[in-house]
Amino acid sequence: MNYLNGTCLCGKINIQIPDDFEYMGNCHCSECRKFSGSDYASVGGIDSSKVNIVTGENHITYFHKTAETDLAFCSSCGSSLFTRKNTGKKHNIRLGILNDVPSKKPAFHIFTGSKADWNNICDDLPQFEEGPSSK
Ligand SMILES: [Zn+2]
Ligand SMILES: [Zn+2]
Repeated sequence: MNYLNGTCLCGKINIQIPDDFEYMGNCHCSECRKFSGSDYASVGGIDSSKVNIVTGENHITYFHKTAETDLAFCSSCGSSLFTRKNTGKKHNIRLGILNDVPSKKPAFHIFTGSKADWNNICDDLPQFEEGPSSK
């Protein structure tokens, strides 16, 4: 198994995960927009047990968004790192932290119903008005 390395902007946090994402997609919900500061967030889902925080765990701050979801960011540089789903034991890794190229690519857009007005989706990937699992 190939391993992927991820770091925040200041480099204090180093995360290692196997190149084993279960899915990869672009989330256009308003919360990802706020948290990432970008039009949308590209994330990859992976089992929480496979996420290895190599260095800088003491610099990770968790914003407790809901009972099941924590958002992780670096308390030193502010980089958004991942979403932690406590009930499903999944991490959604923000692909922007990766220093290595994963073998998968984002394959869908979700929450396009609340996407930024100024953002035009210019690819042929499937689009979902909401999350695939929120039906
Ligand atoms: Zn940092
Ligand atoms: Zn989102």
